[in-house]
Amino acid sequence: MTLEDTAQVVIVGSGMGGSTLAWGLAHRGIDVLVVERGDYLPAEAQNWSPEAVFADRRYRPDEWWLDPVGRRFRPGVHYLVGGNTKVYGSSLPRLREQDFGRTVYPAGVSPPWPFTYADLEPYYCQAESLYRVHGTTGEDPSEPWRSQPYPYPAMSHEPYVQTTIERLRAQGLHPSSTAMGIDLQPGGACIRCRTCDGFPCRLGAKSDAQTCALGPALMTGLVRLLTNTRITRIETAGNADDRVTALIGERDGEPVRITGGNFVISAGAANSAALLLRSTSDRWPQGVGNDTRLVGTNYMVHNNTHIAAVDPRRRNDVTFAKTVAVNDRYLDFGDGYPGGTLQAIGKVQGVMMKTHATKVPLSLLNRIADRSSEWLVMSEDIPSRANRVTVDADGTIRVHWQRTNYDRHELLLAWAKSVLRKAGYTGIFEQRFDIGLNSHMCGTVVAGLSSDESVLDPWCRMHSVRNCWVVDSAFFPSSGAQNPALTIAAQALRVAAEGQGFDSG
Ligand SMILES: Cc1cc2nc3c(=O)[nH]c(=O)nc-3n(C[C@H](O)[C@H](O)[C@H](O)COP(=O)(O)OP(=O)(O)OC[C@H]3O[C@@H](n4cnc5c(N)ncnc54)[C@H](O)[C@@H]3O)c2cc1C
Ligand code: SF4
Repeated sequence: MTLEDTAQVVIVGSGMGGSTLAWGLAHRGIDVLVVERGDYLPAEAQNWSPEAVFADRRYRPDEWWLDPVGRRFRPGVHYLVGGNTKVYGSSLPRLREQDFGRTVYPAGVSPPWPFTYADLEPYYCQAESLYRVHGTTGEDPSEPWRSQPYPYPAMSHEPYVQTTIERLRAQGLHPSSTAMGIDLQPGGACIRCRTCDGFPCRLGAKSDAQTCALGPALMTGLVRLLTNTRITRIETAGNADDRVTALIGERDGEPVRITGGNFVISAGAANSAALLLRSTSDRWPQGVGNDTRLVGTNYMVHNNTHIAAVDPRRRNDVTFAKTVAVNDRYLDFGDGYPGGTLQAIGKVQGVMMKTHATKVPLSLLNRIADRSSEWLVMSEDIPSRANRVTVDADGTIRVHWQRTNYDRHELLLAWAKSVLRKAGYTGIFEQRFDIGLNSHMCGTVVAGLSSDESVLDPWCRMHSVRNCWVVDSAFFPSSGAQNPALTIAAQALRVAAEGQGFDSG
């Protein structure tokens, strides 16, 4: 028997985009149904086990995508209530004001956004409040202006990190506190543990989309959630009327059909594009809203490299390492072009290193981890029509991806290594992100001013199918070089507050 449901607004996906939008729409008094393919992540001992999370990939789906030549890879996706935010690192910085403009690099141009930093700024404030962001101002030379202070003070640095900060300052740099979303204030649930970045929080203290947005939205009584329900197809009306009429899917092997007035696709950059592309019809032979063949294009992931920096003279006894970033080269690398960010990440343990350094004995990796400090070097990739998501005839996602703007990344990486060497780290190991390390994916259904160059308008509504929105990282016209989640949340709040048409249909 077909499961049928209906709502004024139906949202596909409960990750950062979908859950935050549901929260915002509920506060406008709109009736919302969120349809999520995954289930609630259980609170269990394995949440904080590096073996379970990293070696056994307990919370990752057994799903494989294809690269351009047909090699299989496992993508960085998590099909759970809360989506990827259930395991994310909770680092919640804003993009910088210049990221919203046209940015010129030697290798090409990163296009402007169809709205400014000033347009999004009130929603950054709202998102920081919703996601309990801890941070401080006046330290970071790249920080954008803000109309309100951070809701909570920055996390303190532990002694090991403080020593590193002093060594960075001695080089004339301006290390700054990382903007973090966790429940650490007095009376908060966070116990400041070692297994946060990349792990689920067993205590519900991480500011993920379920905890901070969907849960409170469900409490309003205006939002409902259908779990374990995968949407496979978008149905549209006939030739005369460019409207979505229903979503088709399956739940525990049974068919599902969901009708409604308005529909939002928030399945994550690759899956949102894939769902639109799979939904072909006489009216939309290339997929819904894809008459311009732009759906799937401009797939971006950042240019990222992990560094494990070893100082053999210092034991790293840190519990929570992810409290510092260095953004001195973000706005200008020193040659008139932007560089990117250097950020401390959560303490990596030997068993986590083993998932990549498979041939190195675990005992050696444990010795390295005992004296290492881990960092992320992140710079911007430039969108390109050639970098795109397509779907094969059997529905498998294929990612056509070649690095763009990588010369800039090489420069930033070389600078980051020299900075860390001068701070006492004599051994540097690096892991460059490959096609499978796509946790920062964005683009694919980009927002813009004109339908010649974009699929969505500045409020994430499709130019060509007016009762359909895409509200997740797919809307990014460019990637900037800061972690994406706060910007996804801020735009979802902006769409909920300013978006026209949600209450009609
Ligand atoms: C390990 C890790 C660490 C990270 N750390 C950070 C960080 O510190 N800071 C930061 O800013 N970002 C971080 N990120 C990235 C961040 O989590 C993502 O940018 C963000 O979650 C993307 O939001 P989204 O709404 O686009 O997609 P998601 O959050 O991935 O949500 C998509 C949702 O759609 C559901 N879905 C997909 N297809 C369907 C379908 N067909 N039917 C129904 N439901 C569907 C999925 O199950 C999922 O719940 C990290 C990611 C990972 C994996
Ligand atoms: S540091 Fe805090 S928020 Fe992070 S996993 Fe530990 S208890 Fe949870």
